[in-house]
Formats: sequence, C-alpha cells, structure tokens
Amino acid sequence: MAAAATESGVSRWQYLDHIRRTRGPFNQDSDVSEEALATLDKTKILVIGAGGLGCEILKNLALSGFKDIHVIDMGTNSYALAPDTIDISNLNRQFLFRKDDVGKFKAEVAAKFVEKRVQGVKITPHNCRIQEFDEDFYMQFQMVVCGLDSIEARRWINATLVNMVDMENQDSLKPLIDGGTEGFKGQTRVVFPTLTPCIECQLDLYTPRAAVPLCTLATIPRQPEHCIEWAHIIAWDQEKPFPSLDKDDPEHITWLYRKALARAQEFGITGVTYSLTQGVVKNIIPAIASTNAIIAASCCNEALKIATTAAPSLGFEESYMMYSGDDSIYTNTFKYEKKEDCAVCGEVAKPLEVNPNWTLRELLDSFSTKADLQLKKPSIRAEGKTLYMQFPPSIEEQTRSNLDKTLKEGLGLDVNHEVAVTDPAFPALTFRFILRFA
Ligand SMILES: [Zn+2]
Repeated sequence: MAAAATESGVSRWQYLDHIRRTRGPFNQDSDVSEEALATLDKTKILVIGAGGLGCEILKNLALSGFKDIHVIDMGTNSYALAPDTIDISNLNRQFLFRKDDVGKFKAEVAAKFVEKRVQGVKITPHNCRIQEFDEDFYMQFQMVVCGLDSIEARRWINATLVNMVDMENQDSLKPLIDGGTEGFKGQTRVVFPTLTPCIECQLDLYTPRAAVPLCTLATIPRQPEHCIEWAHIIAWDQEKPFPSLDKDDPEHITWLYRKALARAQEFGITGVTYSLTQGVVKNIIPAIASTNAIIAASCCNEALKIATTAAPSLGFEESYMMYSGDDSIYTNTFKYEKKEDCAVCGEVAKPLEVNPNWTLRELLDSFSTKADLQLKKPSIRAEGKTLYMQFPPSIEEQTRSNLDKTLKEGLGLDVNHEVAVTDPAFPALTFRFILRFA
C-alpha cells in the first residue's frame, strides 16, 4: 500500500500534514507551529478494547498520525468464557486478525499488525482488565478512546478518569471518547471529566433488556429464544438451582441451556444451543462490521480534532452523536445535560422513590434492574448504621437478618433519610439517595 502510494507521487501523510500545518478558523498560529506539531507526535493515547470497534480505532488512529498508542483488551467478549482471545467468529469484522491468530490475545495481534502496516507507529498491548491498572498508569495518556461492549467497564474507566481530575493540574484531565455499537445502531460520546456530562450521567440511556411477553414464554414458545427466556425467567425462579444467577458462570448457563433444550424439544423447536443461551441471557446483539467502521471513524476524528484543535470537537456543546441504520439512516448530535445528582460527577444525593413496606431485599433487588443504577452486588448504609454489607463474610452474616425487615417498620427508615449504596464493581463510587415514599 505504501509503495503504491509513493509511486503515484502522493505520500501517505500529505493530506493529514495539510490539516495539521494549515491554520484554520478554529485555531491559532501557535497551534500549527513546529513545536505544536512535535507535541502531537508525542501524544500518548490509550485505546480500550481490541474487538470489532478496537481494530478499526487502532487502524484509524495510526493513520491519523498518532505514534504512541497503548491498547488494553481485557476480555469483554461476551461469548468468551476465558480471557479474550481471538475466536473464529471474530474474523468477519475484526480485520486485523487472520485464521492463524485464533486463540491468541487480541491486543497483541492487533498491535503487531498495525505496526507492520503503518511505519513509525508504536503500539503497546496489555492483556488484562482495566481494573488492574492504577491512576499512575492512566495519568501517562493525553486521551482515552473506548471501543467496548461492556457497560461495567465503561462505568469503571469513567469513574476513574473523573476521580483523577485535580483542578491544580491541567494534565490530569483526560478526554474520554466513547464509541459503542449495537447491531445497526451506534453512538459516539466525548466526555471532558468533571467539566461535561459523564458516562454515569447518561447511564439511563442504556435501556434494560427487551421483553418477550410472559404469556408467550409460559404457553406457546415459537422460537428458540422463547425457550431460553422461559428457562431464564420462569424455570430458574421455580427451581432455584443456585442462590442467584451469575450470567458469567458456565455452570449456570449450562443449567439454563439444558432446561431450554428440553422445552424446545417438547415443542418441536430447533436451534437452542449453548452460545445462543449465553447470547439471549446476556442480551447480546450481533455486531455489524460497517456500523463499527462508522462509529470508530467518528471517534478517531474527535481524537484528531482534540489533539490538533483543527476543528471543534464534540464535548462542551453537543456531546453525543447517535447513529441509526435500523430504519434507513438517521444521525443526530445533541447536548446531554450534566446530572447534579450523578454518583460520579455530581454533588447531591439522588431522590429514590421506594415503598415503605418493601423489605430491604426487595429494595436491593430493585437496584439491579433500575436503568440508572444497574448494581449487581449492592451494600447499603443509612446515616450512622450499616443495613447490609455483601463483604466481608462476618459483616454479611451480622447484617443478613435485615434483608427481610421492611424499610419503615423494620428498619426505621423514613422520608428524607439518606442512604449510601456501594458495589464491588465500582470501588470508587458511592451512590447517595434521599428516600421518598411512593
Ligand atoms: Zn456524571
């Protein structure tokens, strides 16, 4: 590719250099000086995720002139039970991988491939979870670009980057560019931590799973998915094979798979497989290569604009670009408001409407399904009192009896009382609530 470009007399960087060296209406002479150009060459950028979006992002960043890129891939591929390695099913869209790469770590293979194709770029791979790094690690980058399929990982990096901001130190503010796709839909967001709405402020945009009518599940299933949902919602509840469903536990998925398969056979339905069971239970939506390409392209354009000031980026005014290819093509870019009761970047406790006759268990269960919370292992404290703690085991045991007490009568909670909720998935966060009775 490089050879062909040179032969035709056009260097690979000609157009990019033109953008970088030409002063436009949005920047100053100093932005296109030799010093500024040299700074850009030293910009260190972190990519999180080396899957469908990540492959596109790495390629685009390298071809946008970023020379020092790190990539973390920690195995968010929802189909994978082990740390995320390349699967044969990835090859249709994760174009940096070849058949010989099956079983290898994505971050490593992707880094090597792009380094080979784009001379002068250095890509450092990390095969681990983002949670394994501390703030010092994240502090070395000027920007973070996420191509993730996990809400939990997004929330974690968002909370980390917001917590890192030190008003005295401008370099502590790391723009977060977040791409996401779901089938034909996608979005690009840019967060300037503490200054603009964060990912947590926008959490309720992730709608909880699409529902199949319960009567279809219970009476006449027509599709393999209905049998899986039946096993997931009805059979699990009736038989309670394990205390609570862990969607990442192969034993639990196997139980659901066997139940669903038996039901499918009863109704003459084919197509129930282990991976479909996993997909339905975890609400996995198929990835489409071109949606990934569109979203990754917009993420990388934002990175280039932020790094060069060549044009205004998403962020301070409009911060959210949504793309939908579901019904023809539609895109819209809008301003999302910062939430003053956001658990990550807000200042005040959020009102929480509860039924005073609920037990504490019912309250805690509701935290996993509430769109703006999505907490799986919540612990809860009221002013001066521990109501329930998941860890350590000794405290769990001491507080367990509270689970069956009602909020008002049993625990003495009342309107305007403040409660604080934590979850091991987000060690940096405390969700503060002011109780309201429904
Ligand atoms: Zn926020």
